Amino acid sequence: MSTLEQTGRSRLRRVRERGHYDRETIYGVLDAGPLCHVGYIVDGAPMVTPTLQWREGDRVYWHGSSASRMLRQAEGAQVCLSVSHLDGMVVARSAFHHSVNFRSLMLFGRAEKVADPARATAHLKNFIDGLFPGRWDTLRPMNDKELKATTVLSMPIEEGAAKIRTGPPVDDEEDYALPIWAGVLPINQVLGSPVPCPRLDPAIPLPRDVLDFKLG
Ligand SMILES: Cc1cc2nc3c(=O)[nH]c(=O)nc-3n(C[C@H](O)[C@H](O)[C@H](O)COP(=O)(O)OP(=O)(O)OC[C@H]3O[C@@H](n4cnc5c(N)ncnc54)[C@H](O)[C@@H]3O)c2cc1C
Repeated sequence: MSTLEQTGRSRLRRVRERGHYDRETIYGVLDAGPLCHVGYIVDGAPMVTPTLQWREGDRVYWHGSSASRMLRQAEGAQVCLSVSHLDGMVVARSAFHHSVNFRSLMLFGRAEKVADPARATAHLKNFIDGLFPGRWDTLRPMNDKELKATTVLSMPIEEGAAKIRTGPPVDDEEDYALPIWAGVLPINQVLGSPVPCPRLDPAIPLPRDVLDFKLG
């Protein structure tokens, strides 16, 4: 897999050894969880909106209500899409050296609207099936009103970087002898047990696609 070109805005300056520009690492951070934040400029001021993303090949997609200010502003505009996974609290011997273990990325580019309804539907299918494999075909089909109310945006994965911190605290050399606990509190996201909808017919079993949902 190729490596993204480092540009003036995508090249890490602070702690640059934590930077990764190869697609394998970047795709790994994207695919590890759907939560993302999309930043864009509205009336000259920055705005960052949390939403869900999914990847198809070398493009990243997100969607929302056609009435959403985020999606109307983002269409055709320069955006920054960011994903972060908090993997651990890094506890050091001084306040200054406390840190976190994380995998994060920032992607830059121009958001493009998927204008063709058939293509938008196909991407939405990929979104649902990416979360719950095979679920789309088991659902009540999407109708025209729902499709009209939904905008799908995408961006090529061409410019950006991942930044990853792993490992123990890094303290000042003279502090390692101090009688202060230091280490890492790992953080893992854990799925709870499925809670059926109160209006669910109890005869309907839990499907495989829901059980197949994975984070990370
Ligand atoms: C969960 C989490 C918590 C963090 N907590 C802190 C904190 O408390 N204090 C703090 O100073 N920093 C924290 N960071 C790191 C922070 O995201 C920045 O990397 C750091 O502040 C340096 O910012 P900068 O603009 O000076 O980086 P620069 O190196 O100047 O940024 C240049 C370019 O590098 C890339 N880049 C920078 N940071 C990231 C990133 N995190 N992920 C992907 N690409 C990146 C971007 O392309 C950016 O345009 C945290 C990160 C995560 C994920």
